[in-house]
Amino acid sequence: MIDEILGKARLNEGYVVELTRSLVKVPSVNPPGDESEIALLVGEELEKIGFKVNYVEPSPKRVNVVATLKGEGDGKTLLFNGHLDVVPPGNLENWSFDPFGAVVKDGRIYGRGACDMKGAIAAFIGAMKSMVDANIALKGDVIIHAVADEETGGKFGTGYLVEKGYAKADGAVVGEGSVFNRIICLRPAVRGLCWIELETKGKAAHASKPWAGVNAVLHMAMILSALKDFKLKCPPHKYLPAPTISPGTIIRGGVKTNVIPDRCIAHLDVRINPGLNDKLVLEQLNNLFNVLREKEPSFSVSMKILNYAPPAEIPEDSELIQYAKWAVKYVTGEELKLKAGYGSNDSQFLINRAKIPTICGFGPGDHQLGNAHGPDENVSIDILNAFTKIYSLLVYKFTTSS
Ligand SMILES: [Zn+2]
Repeated sequence: MIDEILGKARLNEGYVVELTRSLVKVPSVNPPGDESEIALLVGEELEKIGFKVNYVEPSPKRVNVVATLKGEGDGKTLLFNGHLDVVPPGNLENWSFDPFGAVVKDGRIYGRGACDMKGAIAAFIGAMKSMVDANIALKGDVIIHAVADEETGGKFGTGYLVEKGYAKADGAVVGEGSVFNRIICLRPAVRGLCWIELETKGKAAHASKPWAGVNAVLHMAMILSALKDFKLKCPPHKYLPAPTISPGTIIRGGVKTNVIPDRCIAHLDVRINPGLNDKLVLEQLNNLFNVLREKEPSFSVSMKILNYAPPAEIPEDSELIQYAKWAVKYVTGEELKLKAGYGSNDSQFLINRAKIPTICGFGPGDHQLGNAHGPDENVSIDILNAFTKIYSLLVYKFTTSS
C-alpha cells in the first residue's frame, strides 16, 4: 500500500513543480490582500481530485478554500492548513528573477511565495492526488484549508474559519517552512506575538524655553533605550528562542520645529513563549517604567495592546509527531529533528481556539536558504518532492489509525 502511494507520488513530481509555479505566478500580495484568483486555482485543482470545495469570503476578495475529501470509515480527520497570501516583493532591483515568473534554476523554483508557502500547498495537493491515483480508500476525512490573510494576522483567514466553526479535525498540520539548511525538521511550537502602542505625555511650550515644557519625545527615547536591553522574565523553552522586544518599530511625535512635543507614540513588537501572556508582559513593562519614573517624576506613559496572539505548542509525544517521524524516516532515511523558528503563525488559532493538536510548522520552506519575505525567495524541488511523499504517508497513517 505504502509503496503504491510513493510510486504515484514519484509520478506526480512534475505535477507538483508545475502547480507550485502556477501558484507563484498569481500575485496574491498582502497588503492589500486579494486571494480570489489563487483560491479559484487551488479549488479547481482540488475538485479534479475529488474534494468537495467551498469558498469562504469574509470580506470582498479575501477568499479561503475549505475543501474536504470524505473517508469511507470512522478514521480520524486530518486538516492541512496553508496560506495563499504573500508579502509584497519589495525593491525589484534586489531580485535576480521576476518575483512572479516562477523561474526554475539549479533545482529551485524562484519567486515570491515559493518558500512561504505556496510550495507546501502544492505538496498537500500532490500528496492527496497520489492517494487518489493509488486508489487508497481513506478511513477518515482529509480537509484542506488554503487560507487568506496569514501575513497580516489571519482575521480574514484561519482566525475567521476557526471562529465560524470550519476547523474541526483530530489533528492538523500547518505547512509553514520547517527546513533548516536542507535538513527537514518539524516545528512543535511557535512564539506568540504582542504588539504594543506606548504613549508618553508631556507639556507643550515654546521651544525657545525648553525648561517651560515637558518633552514627550525625550521621555519616549528614554523608554526605548531602556527596552533595548530589557529581558522579559519567562521560563526557558526546549525549542523556542527566548522572548524578544523590538522597541520603536513605529514612532510618531512632535508637530512643529519650535514646539516642545507634548505627545509621542511608539510601537513595540514583543515575541513571547509559553509561560508569558499579554497581561504579564504589561506587568513587567510597568515595573520597568516605575523605575524610570523614580528618576524622572514628570514622566507619564500609557500602554495599549494592538494585537495579541498567544504562543502555541503541540505535546512532543503526540500521535501526529510520531507519524511524522516515521514518514520522514521512510522517505528520506533520516531521523526527524524538532526545531523551532522565530516567527508566529496561524497554528495558534488551531491550537488555542479550535483546540486541535497541530504541528506548528512542517513544510518545504527553508529558513536559511529559502529567503522568505526577501528577494530571490525560492524552494528546493527535491525537498518539495520529499514533502509530497511525507504528507501522503502522514495522511495514510493518521486517517487509518484507530
Ligand atoms: Zn508563511
